Amino acid sequence: MFSKILVANRGEIALRVIRACKEMGVRTVAVYSEPDTDSPHVHLADEAVCIGPAPSAQSYLNIPAIISAAEITDVDAIHPGYGFLAENAHFAEICESCQIKFIGPSPQAIHSMGDKMAARELMRKVGVPIVAGTQEAVKGKEDALQIAKKIKYPVIIKATSGGGGRGMRVCHNDVRLVSALMTAQTEAEAAFGNPAVYIEKYLEKPKHIEFQILADTHGHTVHLYERDCTIQRRHQKLLEESPSPAIDWKLRKRMGDMALKAARAVNYVSAGTVEFLLDEDGRFYFMEMNTRVQVEHGITELVTGIDIVKEQIRIAVGEKLSIRHQDKIPLRGHAIECRINAEDPANNFSPSPGKIERYNVPGGPGVRMDTHAYSGYKVLPFYDSLIGKLMVVGRNRGEAISIMQRALDEFVIEPIKTTIPLHKEILKNPIFRRGQMHTDFIQRIMGEWSDKNTEESGTTSASEKEK
Ligand code: ADP
Repeated sequence: MFSKILVANRGEIALRVIRACKEMGVRTVAVYSEPDTDSPHVHLADEAVCIGPAPSAQSYLNIPAIISAAEITDVDAIHPGYGFLAENAHFAEICESCQIKFIGPSPQAIHSMGDKMAARELMRKVGVPIVAGTQEAVKGKEDALQIAKKIKYPVIIKATSGGGGRGMRVCHNDVRLVSALMTAQTEAEAAFGNPAVYIEKYLEKPKHIEFQILADTHGHTVHLYERDCTIQRRHQKLLEESPSPAIDWKLRKRMGDMALKAARAVNYVSAGTVEFLLDEDGRFYFMEMNTRVQVEHGITELVTGIDIVKEQIRIAVGEKLSIRHQDKIPLRGHAIECRINAEDPANNFSPSPGKIERYNVPGGPGVRMDTHAYSGYKVLPFYDSLIGKLMVVGRNRGEAISIMQRALDEFVIEPIKTTIPLHKEILKNPIFRRGQMHTDFIQRIMGEWSDKNTEESGTTSASEKEK
Protein backbone atom coordinates (compact mmCIF):
# COMPACT_ATOMS: atom_id res chain seq x y z
CA MET A 1 0.00 0.00 0.00
CA PHE A 2 1.06 3.62 -0.52
CA SER A 3 2.41 5.31 2.57
CA LYS A 4 1.50 8.88 1.59
CA ILE A 5 -0.93 10.39 -0.94
CA LEU A 6 -1.24 14.02 -2.05
CA VAL A 7 -4.80 15.13 -2.77
CA ALA A 8 -4.71 17.63 -5.63
CA ASN A 9 -8.12 19.13 -4.98
CA ARG A 10 -10.25 21.08 -2.53
CA GLY A 11 -13.77 21.07 -1.09
CA GLU A 12 -15.83 18.00 -0.35
CA ILE A 13 -13.93 15.68 -2.72
CA ALA A 14 -10.61 16.45 -1.00
CA LEU A 15 -12.24 15.47 2.30
CA ARG A 16 -13.70 12.33 0.72
CA VAL A 17 -10.27 11.16 -0.46
CA ILE A 18 -8.51 12.07 2.80
CA ARG A 19 -11.13 10.09 4.76
CA ALA A 20 -10.62 7.02 2.57
CA CYS A 21 -6.85 7.30 3.06
CA LYS A 22 -7.20 7.56 6.83
CA GLU A 23 -9.35 4.43 6.90
CA MET A 24 -6.68 2.65 4.86
CA GLY A 25 -3.84 3.81 7.12
CA VAL A 26 -2.34 6.05 4.42
CA ARG A 27 -0.91 9.46 5.34
CA THR A 28 -2.19 12.47 3.41
CA VAL A 29 -0.97 15.80 2.06
CA ALA A 30 -3.45 18.57 1.28
CA VAL A 31 -2.69 21.38 -1.13
CA TYR A 32 -4.54 24.67 -0.88
CA SER A 33 -4.84 28.13 -2.37
CA GLU A 34 -4.38 31.21 -0.15
CA PRO A 35 -8.11 31.81 0.51
CA ASP A 36 -8.56 28.10 1.35
CA THR A 37 -6.14 28.32 4.31
CA ASP A 38 -8.94 27.57 6.75
CA SER A 39 -10.67 24.88 4.71
CA PRO A 40 -11.39 21.58 6.44
CA HIS A 41 -9.27 19.55 3.99
CA VAL A 42 -6.21 21.54 5.12
CA HIS A 43 -6.82 20.61 8.75
CA LEU A 44 -7.86 17.02 8.19
CA ALA A 45 -4.76 16.06 6.19
CA ASP A 46 -1.52 15.10 7.94
CA GLU A 47 0.40 17.79 6.06
CA ALA A 48 -0.61 20.77 3.97
CA VAL A 49 1.17 22.89 1.36
CA CYS A 50 0.02 26.25 0.00
CA ILE A 51 0.27 26.16 -3.79
CA GLY A 52 -0.67 29.70 -4.79
CA PRO A 53 -3.23 32.47 -4.86
CA ALA A 54 -7.00 32.15 -5.42
CA PRO A 55 -7.31 31.77 -9.20
CA SER A 56 -7.34 28.06 -10.10
CA ALA A 57 -4.79 28.62 -12.87
CA GLN A 58 -2.30 29.70 -10.21
CA SER A 59 -3.17 27.07 -7.60
CA TYR A 60 -5.29 23.94 -8.20
CA LEU A 61 -4.33 23.89 -11.89
CA ASN A 62 -0.72 24.89 -11.25
CA ILE A 63 1.11 21.69 -12.22
CA PRO A 64 4.66 22.80 -11.23
CA ALA A 65 3.44 23.93 -7.79
CA ILE A 66 1.56 20.66 -7.20
CA ILE A 67 4.46 18.47 -8.36
CA SER A 68 6.85 20.49 -6.14
CA ALA A 69 4.52 19.99 -3.17
CA ALA A 70 4.45 16.25 -3.92
CA GLU A 71 8.24 16.09 -4.12
CA ILE A 72 8.86 18.13 -0.98
CA THR A 73 6.47 15.96 1.02
CA ASP A 74 7.76 12.78 -0.60
CA VAL A 75 4.40 11.23 -1.53
CA ASP A 76 3.97 7.97 -3.47
CA ALA A 77 0.84 9.00 -5.30
CA ILE A 78 -1.50 11.84 -6.24
CA HIS A 79 -5.28 11.60 -6.19
CA PRO A 80 -6.76 14.30 -8.46
CA GLY A 81 -10.42 14.08 -7.30
CA TYR A 82 -12.75 15.44 -10.01
CA GLY A 83 -12.48 18.67 -12.00
CA PHE A 84 -9.20 20.63 -12.00
CA LEU A 85 -6.45 18.23 -13.22
CA ALA A 86 -8.44 14.98 -12.98
CA GLU A 87 -8.82 14.55 -16.74
CA ASN A 88 -5.57 16.15 -17.80
CA ALA A 89 -3.51 13.50 -19.61
CA HIS A 90 -0.45 15.77 -19.55
CA PHE A 91 -0.61 15.98 -15.75
CA ALA A 92 -0.97 12.20 -15.47
CA GLU A 93 2.11 11.83 -17.68
CA ILE A 94 4.15 14.28 -15.61
CA CYS A 95 3.23 12.42 -12.42
CA GLU A 96 4.41 9.14 -13.92
CA SER A 97 7.64 10.70 -15.21
CA CYS A 98 8.31 11.99 -11.66
CA GLN A 99 7.77 8.45 -10.28
CA ILE A 100 4.57 9.56 -8.57
CA LYS A 101 1.59 7.28 -9.16
CA PHE A 102 -1.38 9.08 -10.67
CA ILE A 103 -4.50 7.57 -9.08
CA GLY A 104 -6.58 7.22 -12.20
CA PRO A 105 -6.42 5.72 -15.67
CA SER A 106 -3.42 5.81 -18.03
CA PRO A 107 -2.64 9.06 -19.86
CA GLN A 108 -3.56 7.21 -23.09
CA ALA A 109 -7.05 6.32 -21.81
CA ILE A 110 -7.61 9.90 -20.58
CA HIS A 111 -6.49 11.19 -23.94
CA SER A 112 -8.64 8.79 -25.98
CA MET A 113 -11.79 9.65 -24.07
CA GLY A 114 -10.92 13.35 -23.57
CA ASP A 115 -11.50 14.17 -27.22
CA LYS A 116 -15.22 13.57 -27.43
CA MET A 117 -15.26 13.29 -31.19
CA ALA A 118 -12.40 10.81 -31.30
CA ALA A 119 -14.14 8.84 -28.54
CA ARG A 120 -17.35 8.74 -30.62
CA GLU A 121 -15.41 7.39 -33.57
CA LEU A 122 -13.75 4.73 -31.44
CA MET A 123 -17.12 3.68 -30.01
CA ARG A 124 -18.60 3.42 -33.48
CA LYS A 125 -15.74 1.16 -34.51
CA VAL A 126 -16.18 -1.23 -31.57
CA GLY A 127 -19.97 -1.35 -31.96
CA VAL A 128 -21.18 0.89 -29.13
CA PRO A 129 -24.15 2.93 -30.40
CA ILE A 130 -23.60 6.69 -30.82
CA VAL A 131 -26.00 9.52 -31.71
CA ALA A 132 -26.04 10.42 -35.43
CA GLY A 133 -23.58 13.18 -36.20
CA THR A 134 -20.19 14.20 -37.54
CA GLN A 135 -17.10 12.04 -37.61
CA GLU A 136 -14.77 15.01 -38.04
CA ALA A 137 -14.57 18.55 -36.68
CA VAL A 138 -16.89 20.95 -38.47
CA LYS A 139 -14.94 22.70 -41.20
CA GLY A 140 -17.14 25.76 -41.63
CA LYS A 141 -20.59 27.16 -42.23
CA GLU A 142 -21.34 25.14 -45.38
CA ASP A 143 -20.16 21.94 -43.79
CA ALA A 144 -22.37 22.56 -40.73
CA LEU A 145 -25.44 23.22 -42.91
CA GLN A 146 -24.83 20.04 -44.90
CA ILE A 147 -24.58 17.97 -41.71
CA ALA A 148 -27.77 19.47 -40.28
CA LYS A 149 -29.57 18.74 -43.54
CA LYS A 150 -28.48 15.14 -43.32
CA ILE A 151 -29.27 14.45 -39.67
CA LYS A 152 -32.19 16.94 -39.46
CA TYR A 153 -32.92 19.54 -36.79
CA PRO A 154 -32.69 19.88 -33.85
CA VAL A 155 -28.93 19.44 -33.64
CA ILE A 156 -26.40 20.19 -30.93
CA ILE A 157 -22.98 21.75 -31.46
CA LYS A 158 -20.41 20.46 -28.99
CA ALA A 159 -16.80 21.32 -28.29
CA THR A 160 -14.61 18.27 -28.88
CA SER A 161 -12.67 19.11 -25.70
CA GLY A 162 -15.81 20.24 -23.85
CA GLY A 163 -16.96 19.36 -20.36
CA GLY A 164 -19.08 20.47 -17.45
CA GLY A 165 -22.04 21.24 -19.67
CA ARG A 166 -20.12 24.09 -21.29
CA GLY A 167 -19.58 24.83 -24.95
CA MET A 168 -22.83 23.26 -26.18
CA ARG A 169 -25.43 24.91 -28.40
CA VAL A 170 -28.82 23.52 -29.39
CA CYS A 171 -29.98 24.66 -32.85
CA HIS A 172 -33.39 24.33 -34.43
CA ASN A 173 -32.77 25.98 -37.81
CA ASP A 174 -30.15 27.14 -40.34
CA VAL A 175 -30.03 30.75 -39.11
CA ARG A 176 -29.41 29.68 -35.55
CA LEU A 177 -26.85 27.09 -36.62
CA VAL A 178 -24.72 29.58 -38.52
CA SER A 179 -24.64 32.11 -35.68
CA ALA A 180 -24.15 29.47 -32.98
CA LEU A 181 -21.24 27.88 -34.84
CA MET A 182 -19.12 31.03 -34.58
CA THR A 183 -19.83 31.58 -30.89
CA ALA A 184 -19.35 27.91 -30.06
CA GLN A 185 -15.92 27.86 -31.72
CA THR A 186 -14.81 31.08 -30.02
CA GLU A 187 -16.11 29.86 -26.67
CA ALA A 188 -14.45 26.46 -27.07
CA GLU A 189 -11.12 28.11 -27.87
CA ALA A 190 -11.39 30.39 -24.81
CA ALA A 191 -12.58 27.69 -22.39
CA PHE A 192 -10.68 24.61 -23.56
CA GLY A 193 -7.87 26.00 -25.74
CA ASN A 194 -9.26 24.11 -28.73
CA PRO A 195 -11.80 25.65 -31.14
CA ALA A 196 -12.84 22.31 -32.71
CA VAL A 197 -16.55 21.55 -32.54
CA TYR A 198 -18.73 18.76 -33.90
CA ILE A 199 -22.43 18.33 -34.48
CA GLU A 200 -24.78 15.60 -33.42
CA LYS A 201 -28.52 15.02 -33.47
CA TYR A 202 -30.21 16.60 -30.45
CA LEU A 203 -32.54 14.09 -28.80
CA GLU A 204 -35.57 15.93 -27.51
CA LYS A 205 -36.75 13.80 -24.63
CA PRO A 206 -33.81 11.78 -23.37
CA LYS A 207 -32.81 10.49 -20.00
CA HIS A 208 -29.18 10.63 -18.90
CA ILE A 209 -28.10 7.20 -17.71
CA GLU A 210 -24.49 6.47 -16.76
CA PHE A 211 -22.67 3.34 -15.68
CA GLN A 212 -20.00 3.25 -13.00
CA ILE A 213 -16.98 1.24 -14.10
CA LEU A 214 -14.19 -0.28 -12.03
CA ALA A 215 -11.24 -1.94 -13.73
CA ASP A 216 -8.00 -3.27 -12.29
CA THR A 217 -4.61 -4.00 -13.83
CA HIS A 218 -5.30 -7.75 -13.77
CA GLY A 219 -7.91 -7.60 -16.52
CA HIS A 220 -11.04 -7.45 -14.36
CA THR A 221 -13.62 -4.90 -15.51
CA VAL A 222 -17.01 -4.64 -13.83
CA HIS A 223 -19.78 -2.07 -13.63
CA LEU A 224 -21.57 -1.02 -10.47
CA TYR A 225 -24.87 -0.48 -12.28
CA GLU A 226 -26.30 2.85 -13.33
CA ARG A 227 -27.03 6.31 -12.06
CA ASP A 228 -29.91 8.31 -13.48
CA CYS A 229 -28.77 11.94 -13.87
CA THR A 230 -31.73 13.17 -15.88
CA ILE A 231 -32.48 16.07 -13.52
CA GLN A 232 -30.19 18.78 -14.86
CA ARG A 233 -30.05 22.51 -15.24
CA ARG A 234 -28.17 23.89 -18.27
CA HIS A 235 -26.94 20.40 -19.08
CA GLN A 236 -25.42 20.13 -15.59
CA LYS A 237 -26.53 17.55 -13.07
CA LEU A 238 -28.56 18.59 -10.05
CA LEU A 239 -30.16 15.44 -8.62
CA GLU A 240 -29.08 11.87 -9.26
CA GLU A 241 -30.42 8.49 -8.27
CA SER A 242 -29.45 4.85 -8.40
CA PRO A 243 -30.85 2.60 -9.70
CA SER A 244 -32.72 4.42 -12.48
CA PRO A 245 -36.52 4.24 -12.27
CA ALA A 246 -36.52 3.90 -16.08
CA ILE A 247 -34.39 0.76 -16.38
CA ASP A 248 -35.41 -2.86 -15.99
CA TRP A 249 -32.93 -5.72 -15.57
CA LYS A 250 -32.99 -6.56 -19.26
CA LEU A 251 -32.04 -3.04 -20.34
CA ARG A 252 -29.59 -2.74 -17.43
CA LYS A 253 -27.79 -5.80 -18.72
CA ARG A 254 -27.66 -4.50 -22.31
CA MET A 255 -26.47 -1.03 -21.32
CA GLY A 256 -24.04 -2.43 -18.74
CA ASP A 257 -22.50 -4.72 -21.38
CA MET A 258 -22.04 -1.74 -23.72
CA ALA A 259 -20.46 0.29 -20.92
CA LEU A 260 -17.97 -2.53 -20.31
CA LYS A 261 -17.25 -2.69 -24.03
CA ALA A 262 -16.58 1.08 -24.08
CA ALA A 263 -14.17 0.83 -21.14
CA ARG A 264 -12.36 -2.19 -22.59
CA ALA A 265 -11.92 -0.37 -25.92
CA VAL A 266 -9.42 1.97 -24.22
CA ASN A 267 -7.95 -0.70 -21.88
CA TYR A 268 -9.46 1.24 -19.03
CA VAL A 269 -8.01 0.90 -15.53
CA SER A 270 -9.37 2.66 -12.38
CA ALA A 271 -12.84 4.10 -11.72
CA GLY A 272 -14.65 5.72 -14.62
CA THR A 273 -18.12 6.43 -15.93
CA VAL A 274 -19.72 5.70 -19.27
CA GLU A 275 -22.54 8.12 -20.03
CA PHE A 276 -25.48 7.32 -22.29
CA LEU A 277 -28.59 9.08 -23.49
CA LEU A 278 -31.68 6.88 -23.42
CA ASP A 279 -34.56 7.81 -25.72
CA GLU A 280 -38.27 7.20 -25.27
CA ASP A 281 -38.16 4.02 -27.34
CA GLY A 282 -35.54 2.43 -25.10
CA ARG A 283 -32.68 3.06 -27.56
CA PHE A 284 -29.48 4.27 -25.97
CA TYR A 285 -26.42 6.08 -27.27
CA PHE A 286 -22.91 6.59 -25.91
CA MET A 287 -22.26 10.21 -25.00
CA GLU A 288 -18.86 10.22 -23.33
CA MET A 289 -16.68 8.51 -20.77
CA ASN A 290 -15.53 10.45 -17.72
CA THR A 291 -12.12 9.14 -16.76
CA ARG A 292 -12.26 9.99 -13.05
CA VAL A 293 -14.39 9.66 -9.95
CA GLN A 294 -17.70 11.48 -10.46
CA VAL A 295 -19.35 13.94 -8.07
CA GLU A 296 -22.27 11.52 -7.78
CA HIS A 297 -20.24 8.36 -7.03
CA GLY A 298 -21.61 8.23 -3.47
CA ILE A 299 -25.09 7.02 -4.42
CA THR A 300 -23.54 4.01 -6.12
CA GLU A 301 -21.62 3.33 -2.92
CA LEU A 302 -24.88 3.47 -0.96
CA VAL A 303 -26.61 0.83 -3.09
CA THR A 304 -23.63 -1.47 -3.71
CA GLY A 305 -21.70 -1.09 -0.46
CA ILE A 306 -18.49 -0.72 -2.50
CA ASP A 307 -16.19 2.18 -1.58
CA ILE A 308 -15.19 3.54 -4.99
CA VAL A 309 -12.37 5.78 -3.74
CA LYS A 310 -10.74 2.96 -1.79
CA GLU A 311 -11.05 0.72 -4.87
CA GLN A 312 -9.34 3.44 -6.95
CA ILE A 313 -6.46 3.56 -4.50
CA ARG A 314 -6.12 -0.24 -4.34
CA ILE A 315 -6.23 -0.47 -8.15
CA ALA A 316 -3.44 2.15 -8.36
CA VAL A 317 -1.28 0.05 -6.01
CA GLY A 318 -1.81 -2.92 -8.33
CA GLU A 319 -4.28 -4.88 -6.23
CA LYS A 320 -7.22 -6.80 -7.66
CA LEU A 321 -10.79 -5.49 -7.47
CA SER A 322 -12.48 -6.52 -4.23
CA ILE A 323 -15.38 -8.02 -6.28
CA ARG A 324 -14.28 -9.36 -9.64
CA HIS A 325 -17.40 -11.01 -11.02
CA GLN A 326 -20.17 -8.91 -12.48
CA ASP A 327 -22.96 -11.11 -11.09
CA LYS A 328 -21.55 -10.79 -7.56
CA ILE A 329 -21.93 -6.98 -7.47
CA PRO A 330 -24.71 -6.24 -4.97
CA LEU A 331 -27.55 -3.81 -5.65
CA ARG A 332 -29.67 -3.07 -2.63
CA GLY A 333 -32.28 -0.37 -2.10
CA HIS A 334 -32.45 3.01 -3.73
CA ALA A 335 -30.25 6.08 -3.26
CA ILE A 336 -30.76 9.73 -4.21
CA GLU A 337 -28.34 12.65 -4.18
CA CYS A 338 -29.27 16.32 -4.12
CA ARG A 339 -26.47 18.70 -5.01
CA ILE A 340 -26.55 21.57 -2.59
CA ASN A 341 -25.12 24.51 -4.54
CA ALA A 342 -24.56 28.10 -3.46
CA GLU A 343 -26.72 29.54 -6.18
CA ASP A 344 -30.11 31.07 -6.59
CA PRO A 345 -32.41 28.87 -8.67
CA ALA A 346 -35.05 31.58 -8.77
CA ASN A 347 -32.57 33.96 -10.35
CA ASN A 348 -31.27 31.91 -13.22
CA PHE A 349 -28.99 29.87 -10.94
CA SER A 350 -26.71 32.86 -10.37
CA PRO A 351 -23.88 32.18 -7.90
CA SER A 352 -24.56 33.12 -4.30
CA PRO A 353 -21.19 33.15 -2.53
CA GLY A 354 -20.77 34.52 0.99
CA LYS A 355 -20.57 33.56 4.62
CA ILE A 356 -22.81 30.85 6.07
CA GLU A 357 -24.14 32.26 9.36
CA ARG A 358 -26.62 29.52 10.27
CA TYR A 359 -25.93 25.94 9.34
CA ASN A 360 -27.71 22.78 10.38
CA VAL A 361 -26.93 19.58 8.51
CA PRO A 362 -29.50 16.77 8.44
CA GLY A 363 -28.74 13.36 9.91
CA GLY A 364 -30.60 10.27 11.03
CA PRO A 365 -31.14 6.88 9.39
CA GLY A 366 -30.31 6.65 5.71
CA VAL A 367 -28.59 10.04 5.43
CA ARG A 368 -25.05 10.75 4.22
CA MET A 369 -23.78 14.29 3.84
CA ASP A 370 -20.45 14.95 2.11
CA THR A 371 -19.51 18.58 2.63
CA HIS A 372 -16.64 20.88 3.51
CA ALA A 373 -18.92 23.64 4.80
CA TYR A 374 -19.59 24.57 8.43
CA SER A 375 -21.21 27.39 10.36
CA GLY A 376 -19.05 30.44 9.64
CA TYR A 377 -17.66 28.97 6.38
CA LYS A 378 -17.31 31.42 3.54
CA VAL A 379 -18.35 30.11 0.10
CA LEU A 380 -15.66 31.50 -2.18
CA PRO A 381 -16.53 33.06 -5.53
CA PHE A 382 -13.45 31.59 -7.26
CA TYR A 383 -14.48 27.95 -7.40
CA ASP A 384 -17.54 25.90 -8.27
CA SER A 385 -20.69 26.46 -6.29
CA LEU A 386 -21.04 22.97 -4.75
CA ILE A 387 -21.40 23.27 -0.97
CA GLY A 388 -22.14 19.63 -0.41
CA LYS A 389 -23.94 16.49 -1.50
CA LEU A 390 -26.92 15.31 0.47
CA MET A 391 -27.36 11.59 -0.16
CA VAL A 392 -29.98 9.22 1.19
CA VAL A 393 -30.68 5.53 0.90
CA GLY A 394 -33.95 3.70 1.46
CA ARG A 395 -35.29 0.21 0.79
CA ASN A 396 -37.01 1.46 -2.33
CA ARG A 397 -37.46 4.68 -4.32
CA GLY A 398 -40.54 5.78 -2.38
CA GLU A 399 -38.73 5.45 0.93
CA ALA A 400 -35.63 7.24 -0.42
CA ILE A 401 -37.82 10.15 -1.56
CA SER A 402 -39.43 10.38 1.91
CA ILE A 403 -36.04 10.34 3.64
CA MET A 404 -34.73 13.02 1.29
CA GLN A 405 -37.78 15.22 1.88
CA ARG A 406 -37.37 14.87 5.64
CA ALA A 407 -33.63 15.60 5.39
CA LEU A 408 -34.15 18.68 3.20
CA ASP A 409 -36.68 19.97 5.73
CA GLU A 410 -34.04 19.71 8.47
CA PHE A 411 -31.40 21.48 6.41
CA VAL A 412 -30.65 25.10 7.35
CA ILE A 413 -28.13 27.18 5.36
CA GLU A 414 -28.50 30.93 5.83
CA PRO A 415 -28.33 33.61 4.55
CA ILE A 416 -26.87 32.54 1.18
CA LYS A 417 -29.22 31.17 -1.46
CA THR A 418 -29.04 27.47 -2.24
CA THR A 419 -30.67 24.81 -4.39
CA ILE A 420 -32.53 23.34 -1.36
CA PRO A 421 -35.95 24.93 -2.13
CA LEU A 422 -35.75 23.70 -5.73
CA HIS A 423 -34.94 20.15 -4.60
CA LYS A 424 -38.04 20.20 -2.37
CA GLU A 425 -40.09 21.19 -5.40
CA ILE A 426 -38.58 18.45 -7.57
CA LEU A 427 -39.32 15.75 -4.98
CA LYS A 428 -42.98 16.82 -4.77
CA ASN A 429 -43.47 16.85 -8.51
CA PRO A 430 -45.76 14.04 -9.80
CA ILE A 431 -43.70 13.54 -12.99
CA PHE A 432 -40.56 13.03 -10.90
CA ARG A 433 -42.39 10.77 -8.47
CA ARG A 434 -43.56 8.59 -11.36
CA GLY A 435 -39.96 8.55 -12.68
CA GLN A 436 -41.11 9.94 -16.01
CA MET A 437 -38.79 12.95 -16.24
CA HIS A 438 -36.54 13.93 -19.15
CA THR A 439 -33.54 16.24 -19.29
CA ASP A 440 -35.83 19.25 -19.93
CA PHE A 441 -37.60 18.68 -16.59
CA ILE A 442 -36.05 21.62 -14.69
CA GLN A 443 -36.62 24.03 -17.56
CA ARG A 444 -40.27 22.98 -17.64
CA ILE A 445 -40.95 23.39 -13.93
CA MET A 446 -38.78 26.49 -13.58
CA GLY A 447 -41.19 29.11 -14.93
CA GLU A 448 -43.87 28.19 -12.44
CA TRP A 449 -41.38 27.93 -9.61
CA SER A 450 -39.72 31.32 -10.25
CA ASP A 451 -43.13 32.98 -10.22
CA LYS A 452 -43.79 31.54 -6.80
CA ASN A 453 -40.39 32.34 -5.33
CA THR A 454 -39.40 35.78 -6.59
CA GLU A 455 -40.78 39.01 -7.84
CA GLU A 456 -38.60 38.48 -10.88
CA SER A 457 -41.12 36.30 -12.69
CA GLY A 458 -40.41 35.79 -16.35
CA THR A 459 -36.68 35.33 -15.84
CA THR A 460 -35.49 33.36 -18.83
CA SER A 461 -33.09 30.52 -18.18
CA ALA A 462 -29.89 30.33 -20.19
CA SER A 463 -31.01 27.18 -21.95
CA GLU A 464 -34.30 28.77 -22.92
CA LYS A 465 -32.41 31.72 -24.42
CA GLU A 466 -30.34 29.28 -26.42
CA LYS A 467 -33.30 27.86 -28.26
P1 ADP B 1 -20.38 17.61 -20.65
O1 ADP B 1 -19.17 16.76 -20.88
O2 ADP B 1 -20.12 19.06 -20.93
O3 ADP B 1 -21.06 17.35 -19.36
P2 ADP B 1 -22.14 15.85 -22.15
O4 ADP B 1 -21.79 15.44 -23.52
O5 ADP B 1 -21.87 14.87 -21.05
O6 ADP B 1 -21.40 17.23 -21.81
O7 ADP B 1 -23.65 16.27 -22.10
C1 ADP B 1 -24.23 16.88 -20.97
C2 ADP B 1 -25.73 16.88 -21.10
O8 ADP B 1 -26.13 17.57 -22.29
C3 ADP B 1 -26.38 15.53 -21.22
O9 ADP B 1 -26.58 14.92 -19.98
C4 ADP B 1 -27.69 15.85 -21.93
O10 ADP B 1 -28.64 16.37 -21.04
C5 ADP B 1 -27.27 16.96 -22.88
N1 ADP B 1 -26.93 16.42 -24.20
C6 ADP B 1 -25.71 16.16 -24.69
N2 ADP B 1 -25.78 15.65 -25.94
C7 ADP B 1 -27.08 15.58 -26.26
C8 ADP B 1 -27.82 15.14 -27.41
N3 ADP B 1 -27.21 14.68 -28.50
N4 ADP B 1 -29.16 15.20 -27.36
C9 ADP B 1 -29.81 15.66 -26.26
N5 ADP B 1 -29.19 16.10 -25.17
C10 ADP B 1 -27.83 16.07 -25.15
